[in-house]
Amino acid sequence: MILDDRLKQISGVSKKFSNWSKVFECKPELFFMPENEDDIIKIVELAKRYNKNVRAIGAGHSPSDLACTEGLMINMDNFNKIIEIDSENKTVTAEAGTRVYKLNEVLQKNGLALSNLGSISEQSIAGAISTATHGSGINFGNISSRVIRLTLLTASKGIINCSADENDDVFKASLCSIGALGIILKVKIRCESAFKLESKQFPMKFNDILNNLDSIVNSAEHVRFWYFPHTENCIIWKADKTIKELNPQKQNYFKDYIISFHLYQFLLYILRYFPSKLPLLNQKMFNYKFSQEKQFVDDSYKQFNFDCLFPQYTSEWAIPLEKTKEALERLYDWINNNKDNVFVHYPVEVRFSDKDDIWLSPAYNRKVCYIGVIMYRPYDKPVSYKKLWAVFEKIMRSYDGRPHWAKAHTMTTIELEKTYPKFKEFIKLQKSLDPNGIFLNSYLKRHLFNQMDVKAKL
Ligand SMILES: Cc1cc2nc3c(=O)[nH]c(=O)nc-3n(C[C@H](O)[C@H](O)[C@H](O)COP(=O)(O)OP(=O)(O)OC[C@H]3O[C@@H](n4cnc5c(N)ncnc54)[C@H](O)[C@@H]3O)c2cc1C
Repeated sequence: MILDDRLKQISGVSKKFSNWSKVFECKPELFFMPENEDDIIKIVELAKRYNKNVRAIGAGHSPSDLACTEGLMINMDNFNKIIEIDSENKTVTAEAGTRVYKLNEVLQKNGLALSNLGSISEQSIAGAISTATHGSGINFGNISSRVIRLTLLTASKGIINCSADENDDVFKASLCSIGALGIILKVKIRCESAFKLESKQFPMKFNDILNNLDSIVNSAEHVRFWYFPHTENCIIWKADKTIKELNPQKQNYFKDYIISFHLYQFLLYILRYFPSKLPLLNQKMFNYKFSQEKQFVDDSYKQFNFDCLFPQYTSEWAIPLEKTKEALERLYDWINNNKDNVFVHYPVEVRFSDKDDIWLSPAYNRKVCYIGVIMYRPYDKPVSYKKLWAVFEKIMRSYDGRPHWAKAHTMTTIELEKTYPKFKEFIKLQKSLDPNGIFLNSYLKRHLFNQMDVKAKL
């Protein structure tokens, strides 16, 4: 490929890309770090000229091969300006590569905040939107649902500005577009006045939660819970807005770092050879770290986020809210009765999200419960997880589950068509905006275009 001077300046030596959990990797032919819109336009033109796949990446935090490419990779980290903060109308406009943690800090300084966040803020804003990243709160939608305007660079139609009033179909499609429609250049997001949250975290038995599920889900603005597999224990985390004095969580070096991180990782490593001891470890860690009630007051974004420890395999699906109890009972029954001799790390995370009208959002047209399972990879070492995934996916599918797009899953195009009413429209739009498929990588070909021979390297 022949690059002009500017492209040479912003391109790097092709280097291996690994996602955060180091489960997937790829070696792009060329690697770019653009600094402005013109740079990105040039890269897309190059991809078109040589018919190469082109992929924008944010923080590379997607746990699947979603961000991978063997073609041109665009790292968006240098395309990260906050363009405008409108304090009166409570909106922010930012370039796509802006990390969510930077946005949180700048918004806080300007008396604003995002309404809801996921467990981390490492993501780029476009990466978070592209996969409908969500937090928890039954009356709170995912991050994409707060976007009010978006600018997309497409292969066939150049730059498209879209919002509810302008190119509404492109807008609804691109708010969760997994990189398939083009490169998101900038987004305008609705915020709210900066706020503090008071959180309460306390233990509760699995059956007590399920027997009171409706009232628990609605008992605070933000509710999530963690089930400790092979035990009856859960912890509930609830948070509501407050004007109380700050009372932040303080880190205890010994407890939070030496025991809960290092010793725990070491024990998980050892138990790769003695997995039947995992139930005991889950119980001990629950007793040590989670059996006490805790209450904190802090700025919203600090409360939403928490330490996700170390790399992990993860699978997460959204099912209709009303199916939560039944689905969790089946999962609990399978894990706790040890039906297939499979041992599971904690936590199984349960969260809730409001419905939206974004075409490929797992919460399209229905309030949902997100259920996520993880298996840690102590010191980046593999652990067995495939049997757990197979059973978990079977349960989720049977409740018309929709997988989190960022996470590895085995849904076929035909299954996705059935569960997403707007799936065919999305594909039609994709073909019109990207007729030569330069934005399609293996993940997208596999799941959106039924090319099941394009396997994930898992
Ligand atoms: C520790 C951890 C915790 C997490 N917690 C949560 C959580 O609480 N809730 C939740 O819902 N998810 C969660 N996730 C998943 C995470 O939010 C998503 O994977 C998110 O997409 C990652 O953002 P990123 O910037 O790393 O995007 P990447 O992984 O780099 O990319 C994701 C997708 O976005 C596309 N993309 C990136 N930038 C652009 C752009 N400018 N234009 C077009 N497409 C683009 C990529 O091509 C790719 O398809 C978590 C992941 C990890 C590793």
